[in-house]
Amino acid sequence: MKKAPFITKQQAEEISKKYPTPFYLYDEKGIRENARAVQEAFSWNKGFKEYFAVKATPNPALIQILREYGCGCDCSSLTELMLSKAMGLPGSDIMFSSNDTPAEEYAYADKIGAIINLDDITHIEFVEEILGKLPETMSCRYNPGGVFKMSNGIMDNPGDAKYGFTTEQMFEGFRILKEKGVKHFGIHAFLASNTVTNEYYPQLAGELFELAVKLEKETGADIQFINLSGGVGIPYRPEQMPNDIRVIGEGVRKVYEEILTPAGMGDVAIYTEMGRFMMGPYGQVVTKAIHEKHTHKEYIGVDACAVNLMRPAMYGAYHHITVLGKEDEPCDHMYDVTGSLCENNDKFAIDRMLPKIDMGDYLVLHDAGAHGYAMGYNYNGKLKCAELLLRENGDVTMIRRAETPRDYFATLDVLPVYEKIDFDVTEQGIRQ
Ligand SMILES: *Cc1c(COP(=O)(O)O)cnc(C)c1O
Repeated sequence: MKKAPFITKQQAEEISKKYPTPFYLYDEKGIRENARAVQEAFSWNKGFKEYFAVKATPNPALIQILREYGCGCDCSSLTELMLSKAMGLPGSDIMFSSNDTPAEEYAYADKIGAIINLDDITHIEFVEEILGKLPETMSCRYNPGGVFKMSNGIMDNPGDAKYGFTTEQMFEGFRILKEKGVKHFGIHAFLASNTVTNEYYPQLAGELFELAVKLEKETGADIQFINLSGGVGIPYRPEQMPNDIRVIGEGVRKVYEEILTPAGMGDVAIYTEMGRFMMGPYGQVVTKAIHEKHTHKEYIGVDACAVNLMRPAMYGAYHHITVLGKEDEPCDHMYDVTGSLCENNDKFAIDRMLPKIDMGDYLVLHDAGAHGYAMGYNYNGKLKCAELLLRENGDVTMIRRAETPRDYFATLDVLPVYEKIDFDVTEQGIRQ
């Protein structure tokens, strides 16, 4: 599938007059169309809810769009809970799927009425001690171990993953929770990441539905929801086939009707916690070519770096690149596209065939809408860029400003040197 940027070169020039590059640009139209498709794909299930994984794209302006399609928030930290609460979400719309959880985060999750999804059997007592009494509804995260295999091979390795209860612990955990007064139960599992196949959710659902039937039978627990969590992937490479959420929804329905309905569990709600699938394709980094370097290789230096988008440096992840205004030119130049960090892995592309790039060209880094901005850090003292929203009517709204040196140095205010920092440098318009 051809990957198209949301904007033309002319639009990029226009936007960058007001908001200098690099910046994130999100596509409201794409977010809405996809969110609607997700709701439709699971509309057969009365209780369906997508709890958007806040960590993927923690911007309230974007999450607010998803709220219009019935989405809640999946959180795994104090600040994610705080953000969800500030946005006015009722507790039932907040899932707290954390691990290695600090006591104060459980306390806050309970205070705002979030649904607590336990990562480990030892957390039962931990939570009980903090809260005094367990909530009426609780969920447990399941990890069967081994490898997660599908028809096209091994997808991931749950046996190596730190998350979740073993099968035995699920049964024991449910018994203990029931004894301690928990009335309603959920099951959660996240067994493979970025799956670009329509089979992942249906296969995961099949495993969880069978477990649910056994758990209800053996422990008498009232299972109200099954949470398929995240892991639905996106085609980062143009040659990959995108997932079809309608096919996925139908696939889950089929196993639901085969396993849960005959077991008298036809009222169980399906929850999801997708992050990447909800936002990934609808965010792009727009950056400008500022240097070319001809040494042992051909380099293009851009004004973004791994601080803005870390996935290539961290995982060697592929992000497709379009040179604006040269969409139809032949890709007959091989480049490494780099950022400015003093780290040789700060490369958005290695040996990538692209059109000839001239200084000042705008490059679009595709599929950065999830685990993109959020994963950024401040290495080399580099500052994080702004996030902009391209509205359906073509307007552009800033939904997060760029960091300034004041933000970066703020926590040094415990030292006398803080008073000597020359903040005027940037406040007079000299950019980072
Ligand atoms: C990261 C995460 C998600 C979202 O994963 P995606 O791959 O972005 O869909 C959902 N649930 C939990 C508990 C997570 O840690």
